[in-house]
Amino acid sequence: MNMKLLVWHGTNYIKKVLYSVIPLKIFIPIPSNIYIVPSKRCNAKCIMCLNWREKNPKELSLKIWKKTIDELARIAPYSKVNISGGEILLPGLLREIAFYAVKKLPYTGIVTNGFLLDKKMVKKVVAAGFSNVNISVDGNTEKTVNMIRGREYAFKTSLLAMELLTKEIKKSKSHTKVIIKPIVMGLNFHELPDLVCKAKKIGLQGVYFQPIEPIYNSKQTFEELKKSALWIQQKDKVKALDIINKLIKMKKEGYPIINEVSNLEELKDYFELRERDQKVQLKHCEIDLANLFLLFNGDITFCGSFPAIGNIRRTQIQDTLTSPFAQLLRRRIRNCGKIDVCKSTCKINKSIFQQARLFFMLNR
Ligand code: SF4
Ligand code: SF4
Repeated sequence: MNMKLLVWHGTNYIKKVLYSVIPLKIFIPIPSNIYIVPSKRCNAKCIMCLNWREKNPKELSLKIWKKTIDELARIAPYSKVNISGGEILLPGLLREIAFYAVKKLPYTGIVTNGFLLDKKMVKKVVAAGFSNVNISVDGNTEKTVNMIRGREYAFKTSLLAMELLTKEIKKSKSHTKVIIKPIVMGLNFHELPDLVCKAKKIGLQGVYFQPIEPIYNSKQTFEELKKSALWIQQKDKVKALDIINKLIKMKKEGYPIINEVSNLEELKDYFELRERDQKVQLKHCEIDLANLFLLFNGDITFCGSFPAIGNIRRTQIQDTLTSPFAQLLRRRIRNCGKIDVCKSTCKINKSIFQQARLFFMLNR
C-alpha cells in the first residue's frame, strides 16, 4: 500500500469536509478526479454526440498540454486522471497527450471507442501502464451498437479490442483494468444484462452504467432529450424498471457491475420509472470539491453548466482553483437546481467509501 497516496487523499478529504463547513481558501482541496478532454476529433459518428460533426476542430498545442500535465504532476500527483476526446487513440495530439500523461501521472486512464485497438496498439497501451481503459460499448448486439455509434464495424471492433486487451493484460501481468462504459438510453436498456454477462465472460473489470444526458456543449435541454428516441419511452417504462431491478440483483450476486446499488436505484428516478419520494432531501452539489475538467479550448471548469474558472493558456491551475471567481462559482454550485437530473458517473456525489472502493478497484 502506498502511504504517500493514502496521506495525500486523507488530507485532501479532510480539507474537503472542512471547506464544505467553513469555506476558507486554506481548506480548498485539490480535485481528486481530473478529466482531460483535449480535442473533439473522432472516428465514430455517435447518435448522442456532436463532436464528430465539427470539421477540423480547434486544438491547443502539445506544448501547452505538456506544461499543464507537468503542473498536475506537481499539485495533483495522486489524483485520478481520465483522458477522453473525441477518440483518444487517434494519431497526433490526442494520442501524444495520453502517452505523456501516463508517464507523469500514475493514475491515468483513457476512454476509447476501441476502433483503433489492434494487436499493436493494445501492446502499446498495456505497456504504457494506464490504470484503466474504458471502452464505450452501448449495447450487446451489432444492430444496436452500430446504429448508436454510426459505424457498421463498431460492435465487432470494440468486442475484439476488449478480448485483445484482456489477453495482453494477462500475458504481461499488467494492472490495467478494462471497463465497459455504456450510456443507458431508450435504444439499448433491454440489452444491458446481457452486456454484463459478456463482460464477465471476457474477464473485464466491470461495467459502469451512465444515463443519457442532453448533448454535451449543445443547446439541447433536458425536456428536449425526454421527447427524443434516446429517452426511455412511456410504453417501455415497466420493462425498463424490470431491467434495472435485474441489474441490481446481478450486482448483489457478484456480477461485475461497478455502479453502487444506490446509484442503480437512482436511475429509476432519473428515467421517471417510479414515483419520486418527495420526502427525499436533495443534497447540495459539491462537484467543485472533487472534480475538475480541462477542455479542448483550454478552459478549466468544475461543470459544463457553469462558466470556466480559467484557461490553461493563461493561468496556472492552482491559482485558478483559489481565485475569487472560483469561490463565487463554488457558492453558486452548492445551490445548483439541476442536482436531481444530474447523474453522469463523473458528476454523481459519491461517499468517501464509494470513492475509495472505486479508486482502489481501478488501481490495485
Ligand atoms: S466516440 Fe465519443 S466523442 Fe466520438 S462521436 Fe462517439 S461519443 Fe462522440
Ligand atoms: S448539480 Fe450537476 S449541473 Fe449542477 S453544478 Fe452539480 S454537476 Fe453541475
